[in-house]
Amino acid sequence: MSQAKANIGVIGLAVMGSNLARNLASREGNTVAVFNRSYEKTETLLSEHPEAEFVPAKTYEEFAASLTTPRTAIIMVQAGRGTDAVIDELTRVFEPGDIIVDGGNALFTDTIRREKAVRETGINFVGAGISGGEEGALKGPSIMPGGSAEAWQTLGPILEGIAAVAEGEPCVTHVGTDGAGHFVKMIHNGIEYADMQLIAEAYDLIRRGTGKSPAEIADVFAEWNRGDLESYLIEITAEVLRQVDAETGQPLVDVILDQAGAKGTGAWTVKSALDLGIPVSGIAEAVFARSLSSKPAQRAAAGDLPGPEAAWAVDDADAFIEDVRLALYASKIVAYSQGFDEIIAGAQEYGWEIEKGEVAKLWRGGCIIRARFLNRITEAYAEDPELVALLTAPFFREVLVGGQEAWRRVVVAATQAGIPAPAFSSSLAYYDGLRAERLPAALVQGQRDFFGAHTYKRVDKEGTFHTLWSGDR
Ligand code: NAP
Repeated sequence: MSQAKANIGVIGLAVMGSNLARNLASREGNTVAVFNRSYEKTETLLSEHPEAEFVPAKTYEEFAASLTTPRTAIIMVQAGRGTDAVIDELTRVFEPGDIIVDGGNALFTDTIRREKAVRETGINFVGAGISGGEEGALKGPSIMPGGSAEAWQTLGPILEGIAAVAEGEPCVTHVGTDGAGHFVKMIHNGIEYADMQLIAEAYDLIRRGTGKSPAEIADVFAEWNRGDLESYLIEITAEVLRQVDAETGQPLVDVILDQAGAKGTGAWTVKSALDLGIPVSGIAEAVFARSLSSKPAQRAAAGDLPGPEAAWAVDDADAFIEDVRLALYASKIVAYSQGFDEIIAGAQEYGWEIEKGEVAKLWRGGCIIRARFLNRITEAYAEDPELVALLTAPFFREVLVGGQEAWRRVVVAATQAGIPAPAFSSSLAYYDGLRAERLPAALVQGQRDFFGAHTYKRVDKEGTFHTLWSGDR
């Protein structure tokens, strides 16, 4: 049996695990134990990266013996049953005080369940959301760990060493207890869905409104990336639009089938928001837009339904593009505001103390939604930690004041032209809903009382009321 000499271990050596193990090994002071269910992957990693000086194990017993105490292991296996199987093995060979980290894409309620079960053995369990894909895992991801404060003492310095760095700060922080890390990672992904859909709608409107080519629109996005909208997603959008298909010579975006896939984390965000009663309409529309795109039979059947008769072209392309930029910015503020609302509600529901400004900070590097904009969110929560809606913070309020007319013009243009812009328009409806002095919810309450005696409250006095509507119904 090997001597204990590794301070950190990685289990699961597919693309994410092996890159994370290499990242860990490249940091001063780390010796990394590695284990994979089938030993071939371990052998491949060892032969391809001798410089990492990994400590390999063929069994869970060997793996545990190779780690110094408290033993710390990061699981990077297939989420779901794979994770449960590895946790069962580790709790068998680990001891109280040791730390098991699940770095996979787990549903936060699974993490809550696992943390509770593992805690009973005296072992610490940390669910850590890791964002940034395979490149992030290797070069520095954004990491969102939950779990106990005790586990963070040991784990913190190790994760700070491998995380992305933004403006001199590592993109990792102890988000909260048990499932808080995976919850925040889920919201990250939900916001990512909204961000991507908004960018896609912006592209579609500019293309159909101005007749510009994908390469010309790539220039527009590259220009936007030098301003307030600077972000990884805007940057890669320019690259995607510029790409030419080698086979046909067409813009690649015209050759790619227009049916968007999804792995489910966007849907998790929306399902959780429904349970918490939080309107994340921008994120939901983004998830549904992918679903709609992936219904070829329905789309074919509806293809000859009528749309607007007149052809559409904008008069002033530059002015329209600026309107779209402002609409994108405003809608993006709504998406983040809704995402943070869900974080606040989740924290209340599950008893987490989540620092919103710290969350925005750790998304500044390594992850898919990294953006200049995130500093403004940190500042907003620093100024007012109890901010009731992010979009009402002074900086965002100013952006909305400057952009709301343009936002309306874009939604009107899209509607009149028959171009779907679900994320733009639902974000605007949300904005108008929040700022409305009075909503037709009063009528809904009347209807509910009529058919179900659900009662209502009045604007002019305290209490709960029921009206005898029409005698016998
Ligand atoms: P993956 O394809 O999700 O999983 C493959 C790994 O899981 C292999 O090492 C496999 O071992 C192991 N595994 C599966 N079932 C197992 C079991 N019952 N017992 C032990 N090991 C088992 O790998 P991945 O793409 O590298 O992702 C790893 C995790 O990171 C996942 O949770 C994923 O959701 C998450 N993640 C991925 C990305 C990404 O960009 N890919 C980004 C963020 C997070 P064998 O080799 O023996 O089959």
